[in-house]
Amino acid sequence: MTNKTVVFILAHNYSGSTWLSLLLGSHSEAFYLGELNKFYSRSDPMNCALCDMLKQRCPYFFDVHNHHPRDIHAVIFQRTGKRLLVDNSKRIKWARKFQGEDRYQIRYIHLIKDPRAIYYSLLVRNRPATLDKWIRRNLEIQEFIRASGRPAIVVPYNQLAGDLDRTLPAICRWLGLEFEPEQKNYWQFEHHGPGKNGATAAFVAGGNGQEMEFYQKNFQRNFLDLRWKEKLPQEVIQRIEADPQVREVLVRLQLHFTDQGIEAARGSILAGETEVGR
Ligand SMILES: [Zn+2]
Repeated sequence: MTNKTVVFILAHNYSGSTWLSLLLGSHSEAFYLGELNKFYSRSDPMNCALCDMLKQRCPYFFDVHNHHPRDIHAVIFQRTGKRLLVDNSKRIKWARKFQGEDRYQIRYIHLIKDPRAIYYSLLVRNRPATLDKWIRRNLEIQEFIRASGRPAIVVPYNQLAGDLDRTLPAICRWLGLEFEPEQKNYWQFEHHGPGKNGATAAFVAGGNGQEMEFYQKNFQRNFLDLRWKEKLPQEVIQRIEADPQVREVLVRLQLHFTDQGIEAARGSILAGETEVGR
């Protein structure tokens, strides 16, 4: 059996999946793919953001559009020689394409963010403040993983951000990787992948002072993402906590609310304790 593995990160928007995929993709045996599905977007196909910016031919994705989406992971395994590919396409519609795959192993990380924090980030982005999508997406992801029978873990975002030094090594272990402390400095590595918008400059290895600052600011924001606690009225927080559909999502994933976020029933994702799909 091959030891090549693709890990698909499945998540609702704004759940921190880019951050997690950069952390994992900075391991010496892993390769970051970003939102790979965006190469194949029908209306707006993208190029490698890094290589576009550097005005160079991408050594990995130069001919991505000539390959069938179902073959692209195999192609990238060959080109990189890495053991793990981190696919942050987030969508189950994309992950579903690879269900029967046997050229490599498949694992899923269901990354989930505290609905109180999601609600708050919708408010500040002037988006309709409703958790319907969060509920639907997370239930769909959970159903998909269960039906797949593939190995999977649930990672509450706040557990990753709040306890990175324990949680990231645990995720690496689960993926068969020995944690490398340098992974946390993901801006020191080059990352290829589809994208556009101003963030691309940050994918240049080493980065200049400005980019470092950009990242550190974001990094910090990741950690301080408890603004909802002060900014949301108490009654709104209580309404979210009592919402039967929100509760159903948490129950199915064996999670519960704490003061700081959401947490696995046994307080840990270590050793795959909250593995779903078995
Ligand atoms: Zn590239």
